[in-house]
Amino acid sequence: MITKKTGYDTDTICAISTAPGRGAIAMIRISGKDAFAIADKVFEPFAQDARLTDQKGYTMHYGNLSDGDEIIDAVVAGVFRAPNSYTCEDVVEFSCHGSPYIQQRIMETLITAGARVAEPGEFTLRAFLNGRIDLSQAEAVADLIASTSKASHEVAMKQMRGGFSQKIEKLRQQLVDFAALLELEMDFSEEDVEFANRAQLRELLDDLKSEIKQLIDSFRLGNVLKHGIPVAIVGKPNVGKSTLLNALLNEERAIVSEIPGTTRDSIEDVISIRGFAFRFIDTAGLRDTIDTVENIGIERTREKMEQAAIILYLFDLNNFSVEELNETIKNLNQQYGDQDKRIILIGNKTDLLVEIPHNFNELVEHETIFVSAKRKENINLIVDSLLRSVEHGDLDSDVLVSNARHLQALQQALKFVESIEEGFTINLSTDLIAVDIRHALHHLGTITGKITTDEILGNIFGKFCIGK
Ligand code: GDP
Repeated sequence: MITKKTGYDTDTICAISTAPGRGAIAMIRISGKDAFAIADKVFEPFAQDARLTDQKGYTMHYGNLSDGDEIIDAVVAGVFRAPNSYTCEDVVEFSCHGSPYIQQRIMETLITAGARVAEPGEFTLRAFLNGRIDLSQAEAVADLIASTSKASHEVAMKQMRGGFSQKIEKLRQQLVDFAALLELEMDFSEEDVEFANRAQLRELLDDLKSEIKQLIDSFRLGNVLKHGIPVAIVGKPNVGKSTLLNALLNEERAIVSEIPGTTRDSIEDVISIRGFAFRFIDTAGLRDTIDTVENIGIERTREKMEQAAIILYLFDLNNFSVEELNETIKNLNQQYGDQDKRIILIGNKTDLLVEIPHNFNELVEHETIFVSAKRKENINLIVDSLLRSVEHGDLDSDVLVSNARHLQALQQALKFVESIEEGFTINLSTDLIAVDIRHALHHLGTITGKITTDEILGNIFGKFCIGK
Protein backbone atom coordinates (compact mmCIF):
# COMPACT_ATOMS: atom_id res chain seq x y z
CA MET A 1 0.00 0.00 0.00
CA ILE A 2 1.24 3.41 -0.99
CA THR A 3 0.91 5.13 2.34
CA LYS A 4 2.84 2.52 4.30
CA LYS A 5 6.00 2.80 2.23
CA THR A 6 8.77 4.53 4.03
CA GLY A 7 9.53 7.86 2.50
CA TYR A 8 6.22 8.14 0.71
CA ASP A 9 6.05 11.75 1.71
CA THR A 10 9.74 12.63 1.77
CA ASP A 11 11.03 11.00 -1.41
CA THR A 12 11.19 13.00 -4.58
CA ILE A 13 9.12 11.15 -7.15
CA CYS A 14 9.07 11.16 -10.95
CA ALA A 15 6.81 9.73 -13.64
CA ILE A 16 5.87 10.06 -17.27
CA SER A 17 2.57 11.95 -17.08
CA THR A 18 1.53 11.79 -20.73
CA ALA A 19 -0.10 8.72 -22.28
CA PRO A 20 2.17 5.75 -22.93
CA GLY A 21 3.58 5.45 -26.44
CA ARG A 22 4.83 7.86 -29.05
CA GLY A 23 3.50 11.39 -29.38
CA ALA A 24 4.60 14.81 -30.52
CA ILE A 25 5.53 15.77 -26.99
CA ALA A 26 5.76 13.88 -23.72
CA MET A 27 5.83 15.28 -20.21
CA ILE A 28 7.81 13.93 -17.29
CA ARG A 29 7.09 15.30 -13.87
CA ILE A 30 9.21 15.46 -10.72
CA SER A 31 7.78 16.36 -7.31
CA GLY A 32 9.33 16.62 -3.84
CA LYS A 33 11.78 18.60 -1.80
CA ASP A 34 14.73 17.67 -4.05
CA ALA A 35 12.89 18.30 -7.33
CA PHE A 36 15.02 21.32 -8.29
CA ALA A 37 18.32 19.83 -7.11
CA ILE A 38 17.68 16.61 -9.07
CA ALA A 39 16.51 18.50 -12.16
CA ASP A 40 19.60 20.71 -12.05
CA LYS A 41 21.85 17.61 -12.12
CA VAL A 42 20.48 16.57 -15.52
CA PHE A 43 19.29 19.83 -17.09
CA GLU A 44 21.52 22.50 -18.57
CA PRO A 45 19.71 25.68 -19.56
CA PHE A 46 20.71 27.49 -22.76
CA ALA A 47 20.42 30.82 -20.96
CA GLN A 48 23.23 31.63 -18.54
CA ASP A 49 22.72 31.41 -14.80
CA ALA A 50 19.40 29.80 -15.14
CA ARG A 51 19.68 26.97 -12.59
CA LEU A 52 16.17 25.77 -11.88
CA THR A 53 16.84 26.02 -8.14
CA ASP A 54 17.03 29.80 -8.52
CA GLN A 55 14.02 30.27 -10.76
CA LYS A 56 10.65 31.70 -9.89
CA GLY A 57 7.52 29.54 -9.93
CA TYR A 58 5.41 29.46 -13.10
CA THR A 59 8.42 29.98 -15.40
CA MET A 60 9.65 27.93 -18.35
CA HIS A 61 13.26 27.24 -19.31
CA TYR A 62 14.74 25.80 -22.47
CA GLY A 63 17.84 23.60 -22.36
CA ASN A 64 19.49 20.21 -22.80
CA LEU A 65 18.73 17.19 -20.72
CA SER A 66 21.77 14.93 -20.47
CA ASP A 67 22.93 11.66 -19.04
CA GLY A 68 26.52 12.52 -18.17
CA ASP A 69 28.12 13.74 -21.41
CA GLU A 70 25.39 12.38 -23.60
CA ILE A 71 22.63 14.81 -24.54
CA ILE A 72 19.31 12.92 -24.54
CA ASP A 73 17.05 15.71 -25.78
CA ALA A 74 16.40 19.44 -25.89
CA VAL A 75 13.56 20.02 -23.45
CA VAL A 76 11.47 22.73 -21.82
CA ALA A 77 11.41 22.74 -18.02
CA GLY A 78 8.42 24.18 -16.18
CA VAL A 79 9.05 25.33 -12.61
CA PHE A 80 6.41 25.26 -9.86
CA ARG A 81 7.33 26.29 -6.36
CA ALA A 82 5.75 24.85 -3.23
CA PRO A 83 3.01 25.32 -2.25
CA ASN A 84 1.82 26.60 -5.63
CA SER A 85 1.89 23.33 -7.54
CA TYR A 86 -0.36 20.35 -8.18
CA THR A 87 1.15 18.46 -5.22
CA CYS A 88 1.88 21.53 -3.05
CA GLU A 89 5.56 20.51 -3.30
CA ASP A 90 8.37 21.78 -5.54
CA VAL A 91 7.65 20.46 -9.02
CA VAL A 92 9.53 20.39 -12.33
CA GLU A 93 7.82 19.35 -15.53
CA PHE A 94 10.06 18.40 -18.44
CA SER A 95 8.43 18.53 -21.86
CA CYS A 96 10.50 16.45 -24.25
CA HIS A 97 10.11 14.98 -27.73
CA GLY A 98 7.59 12.19 -27.45
CA SER A 99 9.68 9.16 -28.34
CA PRO A 100 9.25 6.27 -25.92
CA TYR A 101 13.07 5.83 -26.00
CA ILE A 102 13.68 9.44 -24.96
CA GLN A 103 11.05 9.19 -22.24
CA GLN A 104 12.63 6.05 -20.81
CA ARG A 105 16.14 7.51 -20.92
CA ILE A 106 15.01 10.65 -19.09
CA MET A 107 13.32 8.52 -16.44
CA GLU A 108 16.50 6.46 -15.95
CA THR A 109 18.58 9.61 -15.68
CA LEU A 110 16.25 11.10 -13.07
CA ILE A 111 16.32 7.90 -11.03
CA THR A 112 20.11 7.85 -11.13
CA ALA A 113 20.01 11.49 -9.98
CA GLY A 114 17.99 10.52 -6.91
CA ALA A 115 14.30 10.45 -7.75
CA ARG A 116 12.08 7.41 -7.32
CA VAL A 117 9.38 6.22 -9.72
CA ALA A 118 5.97 7.40 -8.52
CA GLU A 119 3.21 4.95 -7.62
CA PRO A 120 -0.11 5.25 -9.50
CA GLY A 121 -1.88 8.38 -8.33
CA GLU A 122 0.93 9.42 -6.02
CA PHE A 123 1.01 13.02 -7.23
CA THR A 124 -2.69 13.35 -6.45
CA LEU A 125 -2.23 11.48 -3.16
CA ARG A 126 0.30 14.13 -2.17
CA ALA A 127 -2.10 16.90 -3.18
CA PHE A 128 -4.59 15.26 -0.80
CA LEU A 129 -2.15 14.60 2.04
CA ASN A 130 -0.87 18.16 1.76
CA GLY A 131 -4.42 19.43 2.10
CA ARG A 132 -4.82 21.05 -1.30
CA ILE A 133 -7.82 18.92 -2.21
CA ASP A 134 -10.01 16.56 -0.23
CA LEU A 135 -10.61 12.91 -1.00
CA SER A 136 -13.77 13.36 -3.06
CA GLN A 137 -12.00 15.99 -5.14
CA ALA A 138 -9.11 13.59 -5.69
CA GLU A 139 -11.60 11.00 -6.89
CA ALA A 140 -13.08 13.61 -9.21
CA VAL A 141 -9.65 14.00 -10.83
CA ALA A 142 -9.75 10.31 -11.78
CA ASP A 143 -13.34 10.69 -13.02
CA LEU A 144 -12.36 13.70 -15.09
CA ILE A 145 -9.58 11.75 -16.78
CA ALA A 146 -12.00 8.88 -17.42
CA SER A 147 -14.83 11.07 -18.70
CA THR A 148 -16.11 10.18 -22.17
CA SER A 149 -19.17 12.37 -22.57
CA LYS A 150 -20.32 15.91 -21.86
CA ALA A 151 -22.44 14.65 -18.96
CA SER A 152 -19.72 12.56 -17.29
CA HIS A 153 -17.33 15.47 -17.71
CA GLU A 154 -19.78 17.85 -16.08
CA VAL A 155 -20.41 15.53 -13.14
CA ALA A 156 -16.67 15.20 -12.51
CA MET A 157 -16.10 18.94 -12.82
CA LYS A 158 -18.81 19.65 -10.28
CA GLN A 159 -17.27 17.27 -7.80
CA MET A 160 -13.84 18.70 -8.36
CA ARG A 161 -15.07 22.23 -7.71
CA GLY A 162 -15.93 21.05 -4.20
CA GLY A 163 -19.64 21.76 -3.86
CA PHE A 164 -20.21 18.19 -2.74
CA SER A 165 -17.40 18.38 -0.19
CA GLN A 166 -18.88 21.54 1.27
CA LYS A 167 -22.26 19.92 1.53
CA ILE A 168 -20.81 16.91 3.38
CA GLU A 169 -18.84 19.21 5.64
CA LYS A 170 -22.04 21.11 6.43
CA LEU A 171 -23.80 17.87 7.33
CA ARG A 172 -20.93 16.85 9.56
CA GLN A 173 -21.01 20.22 11.25
CA GLN A 174 -24.74 19.81 11.84
CA LEU A 175 -24.04 16.51 13.56
CA VAL A 176 -21.31 18.06 15.68
CA ASP A 177 -23.74 20.81 16.68
CA PHE A 178 -26.22 18.11 17.44
CA ALA A 179 -23.81 16.40 19.78
CA ALA A 180 -23.18 19.74 21.48
CA LEU A 181 -26.91 20.31 21.96
CA LEU A 182 -27.21 16.86 23.40
CA GLU A 183 -24.56 17.62 25.98
CA LEU A 184 -26.34 20.82 26.81
CA GLU A 185 -29.49 18.84 27.32
CA MET A 186 -27.64 16.49 29.64
CA ASP A 187 -26.37 19.43 31.66
CA PHE A 188 -29.83 20.82 32.06
CA SER A 189 -31.67 17.58 32.35
CA GLU A 190 -32.24 17.95 36.06
CA GLU A 191 -33.69 21.39 35.67
CA ASP A 192 -36.54 20.26 33.54
CA VAL A 193 -35.76 22.31 30.46
CA GLU A 194 -35.54 19.24 28.31
CA PHE A 195 -38.45 19.83 26.00
CA ALA A 196 -37.34 22.77 23.97
CA ASN A 197 -34.07 21.11 23.26
CA ARG A 198 -35.74 17.86 22.33
CA ALA A 199 -37.81 19.59 19.72
CA GLN A 200 -34.74 21.31 18.42
CA LEU A 201 -32.83 18.05 18.31
CA ARG A 202 -35.62 16.35 16.45
CA GLU A 203 -35.74 19.12 13.92
CA LEU A 204 -32.01 18.91 13.38
CA LEU A 205 -32.25 15.16 12.91
CA ASP A 206 -35.06 15.57 10.40
CA ASP A 207 -33.03 18.06 8.39
CA LEU A 208 -30.03 15.79 8.41
CA LYS A 209 -32.05 12.81 7.33
CA SER A 210 -33.71 14.58 4.47
CA GLU A 211 -30.47 16.07 3.21
CA ILE A 212 -28.66 12.74 3.30
CA LYS A 213 -31.62 11.09 1.58
CA GLN A 214 -31.58 13.72 -1.12
CA LEU A 215 -27.92 13.00 -1.77
CA ILE A 216 -28.59 9.26 -1.85
CA ASP A 217 -31.41 9.84 -4.33
CA SER A 218 -29.17 11.89 -6.59
CA PHE A 219 -26.96 8.84 -7.09
CA ARG A 220 -29.32 7.28 -9.60
CA LEU A 221 -28.93 10.24 -11.95
CA GLY A 222 -25.28 10.84 -11.06
CA ASN A 223 -24.41 7.24 -11.76
CA VAL A 224 -26.14 7.07 -15.14
CA LEU A 225 -24.60 10.35 -16.20
CA LYS A 226 -21.20 9.04 -15.27
CA HIS A 227 -21.48 5.58 -16.75
CA GLY A 228 -24.14 6.08 -19.40
CA ILE A 229 -27.81 5.15 -19.32
CA PRO A 230 -28.33 1.40 -19.71
CA VAL A 231 -30.88 0.53 -22.40
CA ALA A 232 -32.14 -2.95 -23.32
CA ILE A 233 -33.71 -3.80 -26.65
CA VAL A 234 -36.01 -6.80 -26.22
CA GLY A 235 -38.79 -8.52 -28.12
CA LYS A 236 -39.62 -11.72 -29.93
CA PRO A 237 -37.36 -13.14 -32.61
CA ASN A 238 -37.50 -11.42 -36.01
CA VAL A 239 -39.30 -8.30 -34.85
CA GLY A 240 -36.29 -6.28 -35.97
CA LYS A 241 -34.14 -5.79 -32.86
CA SER A 242 -30.79 -6.04 -34.60
CA THR A 243 -32.01 -3.89 -37.47
CA LEU A 244 -33.13 -1.25 -34.97
CA LEU A 245 -29.83 -1.33 -33.11
CA ASN A 246 -27.95 -0.82 -36.35
CA ALA A 247 -30.27 2.01 -37.30
CA LEU A 248 -29.65 3.69 -33.95
CA LEU A 249 -25.91 3.24 -34.24
CA ASN A 250 -25.95 4.71 -37.74
CA GLU A 251 -28.24 7.55 -36.88
CA GLU A 252 -25.98 8.76 -34.09
CA ARG A 253 -22.63 8.75 -35.71
CA ALA A 254 -20.91 9.60 -32.45
CA ILE A 255 -20.22 6.07 -31.30
CA VAL A 256 -18.16 6.40 -28.19
CA SER A 257 -16.87 2.90 -27.92
CA GLU A 258 -17.61 -0.75 -27.65
CA ILE A 259 -17.04 -1.59 -24.06
CA PRO A 260 -17.13 -4.97 -22.36
CA GLY A 261 -20.56 -5.50 -20.87
CA THR A 262 -21.38 -6.48 -17.36
CA THR A 263 -22.37 -10.02 -18.28
CA ARG A 264 -19.81 -12.49 -19.47
CA ASP A 265 -19.00 -12.45 -23.20
CA SER A 266 -21.24 -9.48 -23.83
CA ILE A 267 -20.39 -6.31 -25.67
CA GLU A 268 -22.08 -3.02 -25.05
CA ASP A 269 -22.49 -0.42 -27.74
CA VAL A 270 -22.27 3.07 -26.37
CA ILE A 271 -23.64 6.02 -28.27
CA SER A 272 -23.48 9.60 -27.23
CA ILE A 273 -26.61 11.60 -27.91
CA ARG A 274 -26.33 15.31 -27.25
CA GLY A 275 -23.67 14.71 -24.64
CA PHE A 276 -25.41 11.86 -22.85
CA ALA A 277 -24.03 8.35 -23.17
CA PHE A 278 -26.49 5.49 -23.70
CA ARG A 279 -25.24 1.97 -23.15
CA PHE A 280 -27.03 -0.71 -25.12
CA ILE A 281 -26.81 -3.76 -22.91
CA ASP A 282 -25.65 -7.07 -24.23
CA THR A 283 -26.04 -6.32 -27.89
CA ALA A 284 -23.42 -8.87 -28.94
CA GLY A 285 -26.07 -11.32 -30.14
CA LEU A 286 -28.04 -8.59 -31.86
CA ARG A 287 -25.16 -7.26 -33.85
CA ASP A 288 -24.21 -10.63 -35.17
CA THR A 289 -26.82 -11.22 -37.87
CA ILE A 290 -26.20 -14.96 -38.00
CA ASP A 291 -27.02 -15.31 -34.35
CA THR A 292 -30.71 -14.63 -33.97
CA VAL A 293 -33.20 -16.70 -32.09
CA GLU A 294 -31.37 -19.44 -30.28
CA ASN A 295 -28.80 -17.54 -28.32
CA ILE A 296 -31.07 -14.94 -26.89
CA GLY A 297 -32.58 -17.06 -24.20
CA ILE A 298 -35.25 -15.98 -21.79
CA GLU A 299 -32.79 -15.83 -18.93
CA ARG A 300 -30.50 -13.52 -20.78
CA THR A 301 -33.37 -11.22 -21.69
CA ARG A 302 -34.40 -11.04 -18.06
CA GLU A 303 -30.87 -10.18 -17.00
CA LYS A 304 -30.77 -7.42 -19.58
CA MET A 305 -34.03 -5.97 -18.38
CA GLU A 306 -32.83 -6.11 -14.78
CA GLN A 307 -29.80 -4.01 -15.65
CA ALA A 308 -31.59 -1.53 -17.87
CA ALA A 309 -32.96 1.86 -16.92
CA ILE A 310 -34.89 1.96 -20.19
CA ILE A 311 -36.46 -1.05 -21.90
CA LEU A 312 -37.27 -0.76 -25.58
CA TYR A 313 -39.88 -3.45 -26.19
CA LEU A 314 -40.07 -4.08 -29.90
CA PHE A 315 -42.95 -5.77 -31.74
CA ASP A 316 -43.86 -6.34 -35.37
CA LEU A 317 -46.87 -4.24 -36.34
CA ASN A 318 -47.79 -6.81 -38.98
CA ASN A 319 -47.76 -9.69 -36.64
CA PHE A 320 -49.05 -9.00 -33.14
CA SER A 321 -52.13 -9.37 -31.03
CA VAL A 322 -53.46 -6.58 -28.84
CA GLU A 323 -54.21 -9.01 -26.02
CA GLU A 324 -50.71 -10.40 -25.99
CA LEU A 325 -49.17 -6.96 -26.10
CA ASN A 326 -51.30 -5.74 -23.22
CA GLU A 327 -50.39 -8.85 -21.27
CA THR A 328 -46.70 -8.21 -21.89
CA ILE A 329 -46.97 -4.59 -20.77
CA LYS A 330 -48.85 -5.66 -17.68
CA ASN A 331 -46.16 -8.18 -16.84
CA LEU A 332 -43.36 -5.76 -17.44
CA ASN A 333 -45.07 -3.12 -15.32
CA GLN A 334 -45.71 -5.58 -12.55
CA GLN A 335 -42.14 -6.72 -12.54
CA TYR A 336 -40.35 -3.44 -13.08
CA GLY A 337 -42.88 -0.66 -12.62
CA ASP A 338 -41.77 0.18 -9.11
CA GLN A 339 -38.10 0.18 -10.01
CA ASP A 340 -38.48 3.35 -11.96
CA LYS A 341 -37.58 1.71 -15.21
CA ARG A 342 -39.01 3.22 -18.33
CA ILE A 343 -40.65 0.88 -20.76
CA ILE A 344 -41.12 2.15 -24.29
CA LEU A 345 -43.11 0.16 -26.84
CA ILE A 346 -41.82 0.24 -30.37
CA GLY A 347 -44.04 -0.87 -33.23
CA ASN A 348 -41.73 -1.83 -36.07
CA LYS A 349 -42.08 -2.38 -39.83
CA THR A 350 -44.43 0.51 -40.59
CA ASP A 351 -43.27 0.25 -44.18
CA LEU A 352 -45.24 -2.97 -44.63
CA LEU A 353 -48.45 -1.36 -43.37
CA VAL A 354 -50.94 0.69 -45.28
CA GLU A 355 -51.64 2.56 -42.07
CA ILE A 356 -51.14 2.20 -38.34
CA PRO A 357 -54.26 0.65 -36.76
CA HIS A 358 -56.27 3.82 -36.08
CA ASN A 359 -57.46 2.84 -32.62
CA PHE A 360 -54.11 1.50 -31.46
CA ASN A 361 -53.75 4.07 -28.71
CA GLU A 362 -57.10 3.14 -27.26
CA LEU A 363 -56.35 -0.55 -27.38
CA VAL A 364 -52.84 -0.30 -25.97
CA GLU A 365 -52.44 2.33 -23.32
CA HIS A 366 -48.71 2.78 -23.27
CA GLU A 367 -46.14 5.13 -24.79
CA THR A 368 -45.62 3.68 -28.27
CA ILE A 369 -43.39 4.80 -31.11
CA PHE A 370 -43.93 3.58 -34.67
CA VAL A 371 -40.86 3.09 -36.82
CA SER A 372 -39.43 1.30 -39.77
CA ALA A 373 -36.05 0.10 -38.58
CA LYS A 374 -35.19 -1.19 -42.02
CA ARG A 375 -35.89 2.10 -43.75
CA LYS A 376 -34.57 4.10 -40.79
CA GLU A 377 -37.85 5.97 -40.53
CA ASN A 378 -38.74 7.73 -37.26
CA ILE A 379 -35.62 6.54 -35.49
CA ASN A 380 -35.25 10.14 -34.33
CA LEU A 381 -38.46 9.73 -32.31
CA ILE A 382 -36.78 6.98 -30.30
CA VAL A 383 -33.73 9.18 -29.81
CA ASP A 384 -35.91 12.05 -28.57
CA SER A 385 -37.70 9.73 -26.20
CA LEU A 386 -34.41 8.39 -24.81
CA LEU A 387 -33.26 11.92 -24.17
CA ARG A 388 -36.41 12.73 -22.26
CA SER A 389 -35.26 10.24 -19.62
CA VAL A 390 -32.26 12.33 -18.71
CA GLU A 391 -33.29 15.84 -19.48
CA HIS A 392 -35.83 15.75 -16.67
CA GLY A 393 -33.05 15.02 -14.19
CA ASP A 394 -31.78 17.87 -12.12
CA LEU A 395 -28.51 18.33 -13.95
CA ASP A 396 -28.21 21.89 -12.72
CA SER A 397 -27.97 20.79 -9.14
CA ASP A 398 -24.50 21.54 -7.85
CA VAL A 399 -24.39 18.40 -5.85
CA LEU A 400 -24.77 15.05 -7.50
CA VAL A 401 -23.48 11.82 -6.00
CA SER A 402 -21.89 9.67 -8.69
CA ASN A 403 -19.43 7.59 -6.73
CA ALA A 404 -20.43 4.22 -5.27
CA ARG A 405 -18.08 4.69 -2.31
CA HIS A 406 -19.82 7.94 -1.41
CA LEU A 407 -23.21 6.30 -1.79
CA GLN A 408 -22.26 3.55 0.64
CA ALA A 409 -20.93 6.03 3.18
CA LEU A 410 -24.12 8.09 2.92
CA GLN A 411 -26.27 4.99 3.36
CA GLN A 412 -24.31 4.06 6.45
CA ALA A 413 -24.55 7.59 7.82
CA LEU A 414 -28.31 7.56 7.25
CA LYS A 415 -28.60 4.25 9.08
CA PHE A 416 -26.94 5.74 12.15
CA VAL A 417 -28.93 8.97 12.00
CA GLU A 418 -32.08 6.85 11.98
CA SER A 419 -30.71 4.90 14.87
CA ILE A 420 -30.13 8.15 16.79
CA GLU A 421 -33.73 9.07 16.13
CA GLU A 422 -34.93 5.73 17.34
CA GLY A 423 -32.76 6.09 20.41
CA PHE A 424 -34.68 9.23 21.28
CA THR A 425 -38.00 7.61 20.72
CA ILE A 426 -37.24 4.78 23.10
CA ASN A 427 -35.45 7.07 25.55
CA LEU A 428 -32.09 5.45 25.17
CA SER A 429 -29.35 6.78 27.40
CA THR A 430 -27.40 9.68 25.99
CA ASP A 431 -24.15 7.72 26.11
CA LEU A 432 -25.55 5.15 23.73
CA ILE A 433 -26.95 7.80 21.44
CA ALA A 434 -23.50 9.39 21.39
CA VAL A 435 -22.08 6.14 20.01
CA ASP A 436 -24.42 6.36 17.02
CA ILE A 437 -23.48 9.98 16.49
CA ARG A 438 -19.83 9.02 16.36
CA HIS A 439 -20.58 6.33 13.78
CA ALA A 440 -22.56 8.72 11.61
CA LEU A 441 -19.75 11.29 11.84
CA HIS A 442 -17.25 8.62 10.92
CA HIS A 443 -19.07 7.63 7.72
CA LEU A 444 -19.55 11.20 6.58
CA GLY A 445 -15.89 11.85 7.33
CA THR A 446 -14.72 9.04 5.07
CA ILE A 447 -16.23 10.78 2.05
CA THR A 448 -14.04 13.85 2.16
CA GLY A 449 -11.14 12.02 3.77
CA LYS A 450 -11.36 13.70 7.17
CA ILE A 451 -11.27 10.12 8.33
CA THR A 452 -9.34 7.70 6.25
CA THR A 453 -7.48 4.42 6.32
CA ASP A 454 -4.63 3.05 4.27
CA GLU A 455 -7.09 0.65 2.73
CA ILE A 456 -9.36 3.42 1.49
CA LEU A 457 -6.43 5.40 0.13
CA GLY A 458 -4.89 2.33 -1.48
CA ASN A 459 -8.18 1.51 -3.18
CA ILE A 460 -8.69 4.99 -4.51
CA PHE A 461 -5.20 5.94 -5.63
CA GLY A 462 -4.21 2.46 -6.80
CA LYS A 463 -6.69 2.86 -9.64
CA PHE A 464 -5.16 6.11 -10.90
CA CYS A 465 -2.90 6.36 -13.91
CA ILE A 466 0.83 6.46 -13.31
CA GLY A 467 1.96 10.06 -13.43
CA LYS A 468 -1.25 11.58 -12.09
P1 GDP B 1 -34.42 -9.66 -34.54
O1 GDP B 1 -34.47 -11.14 -34.54
O2 GDP B 1 -35.48 -9.08 -33.66
O3 GDP B 1 -33.07 -9.11 -34.25
O4 GDP B 1 -34.82 -9.19 -36.02
P2 GDP B 1 -33.91 -8.72 -37.24
O5 GDP B 1 -33.42 -7.33 -37.02
O6 GDP B 1 -32.90 -9.76 -37.52
O7 GDP B 1 -34.99 -8.64 -38.38
C1 GDP B 1 -35.74 -9.77 -38.79
C2 GDP B 1 -36.17 -9.55 -40.22
O8 GDP B 1 -37.06 -8.43 -40.27
C3 GDP B 1 -35.03 -9.20 -41.16
O9 GDP B 1 -35.26 -9.84 -42.39
C4 GDP B 1 -35.12 -7.70 -41.30
O10 GDP B 1 -34.63 -7.25 -42.54
C5 GDP B 1 -36.60 -7.48 -41.20
N1 GDP B 1 -36.92 -6.15 -40.73
C6 GDP B 1 -36.43 -5.52 -39.62
N2 GDP B 1 -36.98 -4.29 -39.53
C7 GDP B 1 -37.82 -4.14 -40.59
C8 GDP B 1 -38.65 -3.07 -41.04
O11 GDP B 1 -38.76 -1.98 -40.45
N3 GDP B 1 -39.38 -3.31 -42.16
C9 GDP B 1 -39.29 -4.47 -42.85
N4 GDP B 1 -40.01 -4.58 -43.93
N5 GDP B 1 -38.53 -5.47 -42.45
C10 GDP B 1 -37.77 -5.32 -41.33
